[in-house]
Amino acid sequence: MLLHCLGTAGYHPNEQRHTSCYFLPAEGIILDAGTGMFRVRELIQTTSLDILLSHAHLDHIAGLTFLLDVLYGKGVEKVRIWGEQEKLDAIRTHLFSSLVFPVELDAQWCPIDGQNELTINNCKVTWRTQPHPGASIGYRMQWPGGPTLVYLTDTTGQIDRHADSFNADADLLMHECYFQDDLKAQAEKTGHTYCGRLVQIARSANPKQLLLTHVNPIDPQPSAMLDEVAAGLRDTNIGVSLAEDRMQVCFGT
Ligand SMILES: [Zn+2]
Ligand SMILES: [Zn+2]
Repeated sequence: MLLHCLGTAGYHPNEQRHTSCYFLPAEGIILDAGTGMFRVRELIQTTSLDILLSHAHLDHIAGLTFLLDVLYGKGVEKVRIWGEQEKLDAIRTHLFSSLVFPVELDAQWCPIDGQNELTINNCKVTWRTQPHPGASIGYRMQWPGGPTLVYLTDTTGQIDRHADSFNADADLLMHECYFQDDLKAQAEKTGHTYCGRLVQIARSANPKQLLLTHVNPIDPQPSAMLDEVAAGLRDTNIGVSLAEDRMQVCFGT
């Protein structure tokens, strides 16, 4: 399975990174719709697209307004946008207010509330609420007889029995990492994860690969975070990397 990292920053873009957007072109599944969304266009392979939203902060939804261009002439017949009902309502009311973006989107808005799981093509998707201002949703995706992907962003990072089983044994664990340990207090205050916390989470979850995402756009040297996390996991078999825009990650093979 091939994952394309199209936007790897949190909060706002910088010269190297757009905001959160990840794409599995063969499956037509998009994780979050930040400003990296415009890059989906050149990679579309399917006639349906499913966009899983973690939450409705702007760095995860601004790219929904790019869909007119992303889809133009690409033969996509169905677009579904998944998320919590109140977040979808907020997006429709505010981002797609006619005064903010004057064109109605040709997409289905699909609340996940009241369900425990959904199936996209043959991928089983489950989710879990994450601690973050206004809360966010973490997704676990399992292909029958195939790989498992866990996507956790905009979270202080959960460690408890239920989180451990939700996060466990993924082929690829995508987890935000926004601060080094010296800014731990800032991480807790803003609802984000710091390196030491991520090391603890990865140790409990034991993925084959850990991908650090949602990079702080004003961090002058995000590779220092990668070094810090990798050092904490040195005695494990977990492969650790830092997401970069345009990077492709192969997992489950
Ligand atoms: Zn964010
Ligand atoms: Zn957020």
